[in-house]
Amino acid sequence: MSMRFKLLGFLCTCHVLAVDNTMESYVGYKVYRFTPSTEDHIKLLRELQDAGIDFWTGPSPPGRTSDAMFSPEQQVDLLNKALSSGMKNEVYISDVQDLLDVEKVRTVQAPGEIDWYYYYKLDDLYAHVERLAVENPYVEVIKYGQSYESRDLKVVKISKFCETGETKPIIFIEGSTHAREWISSAVATYIINELLCGTLQERMDQFDFYIVPVGNPDGYVYSHTRSRMWRKTRSINKGSRCVGTDPNRNWNYQWMTGGSSDDPCTDIYAGPEAFSEVEIRSLAEFYQTIGNNVSFVLTLHIYGQKIVFPLGYTRDHIPDYDRYVRLA
Ligand SMILES: [Zn+2]
Repeated sequence: MSMRFKLLGFLCTCHVLAVDNTMESYVGYKVYRFTPSTEDHIKLLRELQDAGIDFWTGPSPPGRTSDAMFSPEQQVDLLNKALSSGMKNEVYISDVQDLLDVEKVRTVQAPGEIDWYYYYKLDDLYAHVERLAVENPYVEVIKYGQSYESRDLKVVKISKFCETGETKPIIFIEGSTHAREWISSAVATYIINELLCGTLQERMDQFDFYIVPVGNPDGYVYSHTRSRMWRKTRSINKGSRCVGTDPNRNWNYQWMTGGSSDDPCTDIYAGPEAFSEVEIRSLAEFYQTIGNNVSFVLTLHIYGQKIVFPLGYTRDHIPDYDRYVRLA
């Protein structure tokens, strides 16, 4: 896929709630790349994650790299703990704010008109898909619920009329379930564009497509207006000063296992219970209505060039593991 994004496809997290209406600053935040070589190193990385360090990748098994962001305060104690462990490391990003400063968000030039050289806000992305639905007989925008903060949850259905009337298998794609992963929404809308007027047009003869441009609209808006690194939903957690649940940890299958936390202040908080988040509950309910025909589900995330496939909670392989590896 040749996308000429003049954009940065990276991310990280927010640990401190903004107290005013300005964007939170990431001046002095650093990203370190660690390469653990022993089980003790992995244990240490997990401890850092539990202590609130934002891992962009990992903690990974020995020999593979893990990228983690440290605030200036975290560099005093937690970073030193990692650096003194003997684990291989390097400074990967010396100042996160420097990268945020070159990122480009643009207001649309005409209603519903976007491109893939800039990032766009939620209203502009929604206006874009609504416009496609008006202009294209194959496109329908379906509202499958409302977010915690009462924003519409929308999926774009792309289905080309089939003369024989037979049902086509469905490909389901979701962007920005993690709020800060803006480029996943850009990829989702790019795929829609390629299906309707680009290189993927003939795929409409084989499949119906359901594409969610922004799975976590509250978080997406918050990442545009208050904290660029916001990842979670925006639901209030009773008894905690920390807001939001990791929507990707909120599904009911193997809930609170494999890289999830029960601490609302972490970025991998799985919620008070499975499906506690209305965004995920609504998506699951909608999914039930089409589930029998779905042949492929792709959830878009950043960062890293990788395909992640089941099982995520254990190192055991699924039966058709080799097929997935070939696909990757
Ligand atoms: Zn993600």
